[in-house]
Amino acid sequence: MNTSPHPAAEPGMAGPADPADSADSARVADVAIVGYGPVGQLLAALLGRHGYEVVVIERYGGIYPMPRAVHFDHEVARILQSVGIRPDTDPIIEPYDDWYEWRNANRQTLLRVDWRGVGPSWWNTANFFAQPDLERELDARARKHPTVTVRRGLRAVAVDQDRDGVTVTVRPTGDSGAEGEPHTVRARYLVGCDGANSTVRNLLGLELTDLGFFFDWLILDMIPNEPMTFDPPAWQLCDPARPTTIVPGGPGRRRWEFMALPGEDVNDLNKAETAWELLRPWGLTPDNAELERHTVYRFQAHWADEWRAGRVLIAGDAAHLMPPFAGQGMCAGLRDVFNLAWKLDLVLRGAADDRLLDTYGPERSPHVRHFIDVSIGLGKVICVPGQEQAAERDRELMAAIADPALAPAPPPAPRLGPGVFADGDEQAGLLSIQSRVEYDGCTGLFDDVVGHGWFVLIDAHPGPRAAGAVALTAASRAVLARLGAKVLRVGAPDSPDAEVVDLDGRYAGWFADLGAEAVVIRPDFYVHAATDAAGLDGTLRALGARLAAPAPDRK
Ligand SMILES: Cc1cc2nc3c(=O)[nH]c(=O)nc-3n(C[C@H](O)[C@H](O)[C@H](O)COP(=O)(O)OP(=O)(O)OC[C@H]3O[C@@H](n4cnc5c(N)ncnc54)[C@H](O)[C@@H]3O)c2cc1C
Repeated sequence: MNTSPHPAAEPGMAGPADPADSADSARVADVAIVGYGPVGQLLAALLGRHGYEVVVIERYGGIYPMPRAVHFDHEVARILQSVGIRPDTDPIIEPYDDWYEWRNANRQTLLRVDWRGVGPSWWNTANFFAQPDLERELDARARKHPTVTVRRGLRAVAVDQDRDGVTVTVRPTGDSGAEGEPHTVRARYLVGCDGANSTVRNLLGLELTDLGFFFDWLILDMIPNEPMTFDPPAWQLCDPARPTTIVPGGPGRRRWEFMALPGEDVNDLNKAETAWELLRPWGLTPDNAELERHTVYRFQAHWADEWRAGRVLIAGDAAHLMPPFAGQGMCAGLRDVFNLAWKLDLVLRGAADDRLLDTYGPERSPHVRHFIDVSIGLGKVICVPGQEQAAERDRELMAAIADPALAPAPPPAPRLGPGVFADGDEQAGLLSIQSRVEYDGCTGLFDDVVGHGWFVLIDAHPGPRAAGAVALTAASRAVLARLGAKVLRVGAPDSPDAEVVDLDGRYAGWFADLGAEAVVIRPDFYVHAATDAAGLDGTLRALGARLAAPAPDRK
């Protein structure tokens, strides 16, 4: 059994170590990354795009093949869009457009999660895929940058840091399990993306807060070899006799998850014959489907209290873990490094003080807590092993469906915690939107035709709310130059001075919702500030002060 989301070793995973590089110890990378799951891969791709020297240390010889993530949301779709992985063209992604239902043993609806349509980032609210497929694509996006070196077959065993950088001691891992001679890798910063049992986190002594949620589940990835329909396509059977998850598993695949019952031996559960027995009521047999992979995981919920110690940071499952009922664990990890990458960029190029990195954990941690709480809430609906408890749950949830006034208020939109935001701004820390625009003679999604980075979008839609001319002082123009920020007027097709044409009117609605004439957007798509045109100059000068001039001894 894999009692954590990452087993110690899988057959065929060890692989030969990349040849030890005698120059390793002498070379200083900008960033070393320990762990090359999706989170380490995305960080390598993002830093490689900026031309940084990145060295990745990964203990396994190949992509981890076991069944894990199958779902990502619209925001993560936009993050993936930034590295050229797109739900509209990529055959590994299946956009979803339906409800996600929770039903009791009698198939009565207990809960409905609305996964229909598109989200604020333009992409579908829910998208399905198989994690090994996505990892292959992310790996290719990282490796295409010549400054990214991926060293597989090396296990990080020690981390030492000093005033100028971090030294990671690595040992080659081998098929035999024997480890080779250690050598060291040196970098200015180290990011531990090394999963739930993170060596980096443990070596730094970063404490975990654990919510004490533990349930074992058998996970099956199935490839039906004849057409099969499922209604609804994604749902949870909250039957205490065998809580079961039935969801898409990416193009051509379906995912089943079966909870281990109290007292059940998980080693017996994790057998192919048990899997087929559990699948029989669902109409799947070896004649009409292939059991691609199976494993047992222990679902847990915890987070690290600190995400930084000096020049070392942690991200992804190394920093937080949640049960997969909301399909958000990997999503949260990808958001972590999307936040961290632009901060590392500013610090590494001397455009911001190293203290900017102190904002990473405090910003990300409350956002992750939101999804941990949602996931635990959903887990408490399904992980109910007793008939009486289940009957009580059914009564409460069905009463809430019959009379929405009895339902708990939906949680507020997830928001980043305190960090690089305008003080007292109610919109700061919320996600921005993406829509279709025309810019510089090209039509397409904003990120595709305008690009990435810091933006100041000024409302140029006609009407009483249109921002007038925006006067910026030399000080705020210097901040924009330091950030490489673009200032753009966004208006309707008939706006006389629109540089970005809002083709679907979504930006007009968004400015109105924010009550803002100008919005400062960070490279991770979060709102730094929403202000009137007159307040923009002060907002930018305050941002400049927050980033602070780099201290000479930290460069
Ligand atoms: C059953 C299941 C279903 C899930 N479904 C979803 C879903 O639908 N949506 C979603 O968003 N998330 C989901 N998740 C969560 C998702 O799989 C994880 O959050 C994600 O894999 C975390 O990525 P990571 O890169 O942080 O860590 P990992 O993918 O665990 O990668 C860590 C890497 O670090 C390496 N490593 C570890 N220690 C060392 C060391 N000392 N030296 C060198 N290398 C090391 C490991 O070999 C590994 O390759 C699910 C998880 C499970 C178990």
